[in-house]
Amino acid sequence: MNSRWGKNGWVYLLIIVAFGALLLNMFPQKSTTDKNVSIGKVATWIQQDKVKSIELHNEQINVRLIGSKNITYHATKEKTVGLTTLLSQFGVTPQQLSKVNVLVDKPSDYGGWMVFLTNFLPLLFIGVLFIFLMRQAQGANSQAMSFGKSKARMLSGDKPTVTFDDVAGAEEAKQELQEVVEFLREPQKFLALGARIPKGVLLMGPPGTGKTLIAKAVSGEAGVPFFSISGAEFVEMFVGVGASRVRDLFAQAKKNSPSIVFVDEIDAVGRQRGAGLGGSNDEREQTLNQILVEMDGFDTDTNVIIMAATNRPDILDPALLRPGRFDRRVVMDRPDIRGRRQILDIHANGKPLAADVDLEVIAHLTPGFVGADLENLLNEAAILAARRSQTQIHMAELKEAIERVSMGPERRSRIISPEERRIVAYHESGHALVAKFCKYADPVQKVTIIPRGMASGYTSYLPEKDETLVSRSKFKDMMAVALGGQEAELVIFGDITDGAVSDIKQVTKIARAMITRYGMSDKLGPLVFGRREELIFLGREINEQRNYSEMTAKKIDEEVERLIKAAQTRAHNIIMQYHNKLDELAQLLLEKETVEAAEFHALFEDIPEANQAVPIQIA
Ligand code: ADP
Ligand code: MG
Ligand code: ZN
Repeated sequence: MNSRWGKNGWVYLLIIVAFGALLLNMFPQKSTTDKNVSIGKVATWIQQDKVKSIELHNEQINVRLIGSKNITYHATKEKTVGLTTLLSQFGVTPQQLSKVNVLVDKPSDYGGWMVFLTNFLPLLFIGVLFIFLMRQAQGANSQAMSFGKSKARMLSGDKPTVTFDDVAGAEEAKQELQEVVEFLREPQKFLALGARIPKGVLLMGPPGTGKTLIAKAVSGEAGVPFFSISGAEFVEMFVGVGASRVRDLFAQAKKNSPSIVFVDEIDAVGRQRGAGLGGSNDEREQTLNQILVEMDGFDTDTNVIIMAATNRPDILDPALLRPGRFDRRVVMDRPDIRGRRQILDIHANGKPLAADVDLEVIAHLTPGFVGADLENLLNEAAILAARRSQTQIHMAELKEAIERVSMGPERRSRIISPEERRIVAYHESGHALVAKFCKYADPVQKVTIIPRGMASGYTSYLPEKDETLVSRSKFKDMMAVALGGQEAELVIFGDITDGAVSDIKQVTKIARAMITRYGMSDKLGPLVFGRREELIFLGREINEQRNYSEMTAKKIDEEVERLIKAAQTRAHNIIMQYHNKLDELAQLLLEKETVEAAEFHALFEDIPEANQAVPIQIA
């Protein structure tokens, strides 16, 4: 905004000046003590020795009389005739005239300037206004004037302002990036040992989790220049502009190495090529290709590290993720309760908090909030306090701000009551517990009650190996695990909630597929039931047509029901048998919100039946 004012400042100045000139032109000033007289009158006064002085400005004659202090009389003469000649025509002799003090203004530029200003400036004014409006209308397109030159902003490495201390609750990410920092600080140390340094680091995570922030912090920590550009900026109006920007950007970075190139929102250009319905976007593809070319063209001794951020790693072009490109991935996840506390501490700095404020409580009340939300929350609270004319921010404002932020237009995060939290904790524990005791189920990698998207919590599993074939036993285990959540709710609370929508959907889908597509039912045998058309261009929409009898349909339904019931019973039995473990896990979740693999599996060390290997943690 600032630069915009600076750039347009002269336009506004011109407008004001021109307007002033226009006004001058319309209302020529006239002092009230001035009077117009004829030349003849002036001649008479001279003859009567009444005149003190005469000033001559071009055609205008200003006359002052002896004795009258303030009055100036004006007369006009023709341009071509001299004053002396004119007066002599009225009978003024040279002697009479010599008694008068005559001042002749050199026909100065002043008049010319005045003419210029009053006549030409309004035109200029209109012209400038016109250009100004045109540029406004074109908006971003006016940047076309400078196309080709990278708009990468170079933040000087001399004055690192952001450091890792400014990023809270992302310990794993910081650890990962520490290596990058060390390399940028002392590249020789690594190169001397022939180490291959990561070329590209991809930061992944939901919006507002601090991806941009941590990228800057890496530059700040290492004290190297930071060249950043946003993927969205690449998508400009001329084909080829994006590509030349990339070229320029990398050239600059190389010149200033060691340095960091940061491509924010890379998904804007890095989308899978050739995907989508409406044909491909040439500009985007060219830009993406250029990025790939530049990354491949880097030698190991270039000392430039490319960082990129995205919240949609799933749609990125696989070419970007190949080894030698963005092969380092760093996840910036939604912060847990401890992380939120730390973020609140950072952003509360400099804000006067009242004695009743407990940020621990605020952290507790804001599951699902990301860093940007929390920063926003404190800001909203400060605004509320100011509007209430308070000198400090109280708990009341903070609580109101939570609602404002979460109920905001995007409704990104939601508030969860303590009871809901308990239900979610037991639900997720149920999934995890059943998974632990199902031989073929994927091992649990992480259990969390931090909401994500529409889910209020989730349990993630880690496939032990890449599987192309899934066995019937595994499908059965998967169904039991999926039903574990609702089963746990039922056992603990005697009631169930609608929190299991996607679980139920998944179970139904597995059971039906087992019977109608994979021939896994003993009763119905290896037959495919139903003809389905996959509408490929719409993604995964499936249109199913029935090609079997009413009676078969009934049998299918029965088989589906049997499978699901069996899975439900298994889940129920596991939960009843290991009730105490369910409680332990749920308690742990309520306390910490997230339980990682190692901690989860450690809970079951004393139970030999749960002898699943602890999965290797992948970052
Ligand atoms: P992203 O790039 O992931 O969308 P940003 O880095 O732009 O998120 O974060 C927006 C703002 O939110 C940051 O400028 C910072 O003030 C705040 N913020 C986000 N995450 C954190 C964090 N982990 N610690 C401190 N502040 C954070
Ligand atoms: Mg960002
Ligand atoms: Zn569930």
